[in-house]
Amino acid sequence: MKTILDRISKHADAQTERGAVASYIPELASVDPKQFGMSVVMADGQSFSVGDAATRFSIQSVSKVFTLALALGRLGDQLWSRVGREPSGLPFNSILQLEHERGIPRNPFINAGALVVTDAILAGHQPREVLGELLRFVRAAAGDDDIHINKAVAKSETEHGARNLSLAHFMQAQGNFQNPPEMTCGTYFHQCAIEMTCEQLARAGRFLIGATGPSLISQSNVRRINALMLTCGHYDGSGEFAYRVGLPGKSGVGGGILMIVPNKASVAIWSPGLNAQGNSQLGTEAAEKFAEMTGWSVFG
Ligand code: GLN
Repeated sequence: MKTILDRISKHADAQTERGAVASYIPELASVDPKQFGMSVVMADGQSFSVGDAATRFSIQSVSKVFTLALALGRLGDQLWSRVGREPSGLPFNSILQLEHERGIPRNPFINAGALVVTDAILAGHQPREVLGELLRFVRAAAGDDDIHINKAVAKSETEHGARNLSLAHFMQAQGNFQNPPEMTCGTYFHQCAIEMTCEQLARAGRFLIGATGPSLISQSNVRRINALMLTCGHYDGSGEFAYRVGLPGKSGVGGGILMIVPNKASVAIWSPGLNAQGNSQLGTEAAEKFAEMTGWSVFG
């Protein structure tokens, strides 16, 4: 495994086409695009890392996996009356489909869907309680208490949050929002601003490995979340990721990808430059090389 990671890292270092760092959240625009890190944690706990795997980055939409786990645990199938389970085929922040489909987002991993999930777990709670619960979950999953929210990133996104607020207001108009849009969006911006290293994120992902990982959620929810990661985890790049990599993954505009090899391993990859779909450019290439070199795939 170490040899595989070294080769992937060497390949990444040699690339000149690294994509563009997200700039619509100004605090993320200054991240150095030359970074690349990757960590693999096996089902038995053994771990391997390479490159900038100990550098903290903004997990952004990777947080949607953790909030979905909390929401499914709390609400079960009730959640699916408010959000669908189909790939959207559109950018993560698109508002187009939402009007056609009467304020019911396609899936929990596009922004509109993740806002509904956060809105659902807020019910009857204060934002700080929900964020506290989320941090407890992520820290327990990673076995590491040194995981925090970067307040400057949350503030930066709040100041430039018009697009997410518009999604929330539209859903409110359609009767699919329970809390004030500012409150749910504020909570969502803070969840996205959680920072982790690849080492921490790969450890935090172990609860999704399946029977052999730590059991923080039910096995049926492990399978369901993995299915959604495979079909919707990379927005309008999900089909391409499934084709090229063949493993469930969830990306974020901070350049992180959490990838699960069912029954075998949890993998975190980070490189801040993004491709046209807002997924890590080098991270996606590394995921493809990793799948090729290990021969691991959910398709046998
Ligand atoms: N916080 C970001 C947003 O809402 C998350 C998007 C992402 O990581 N794809 O735009």
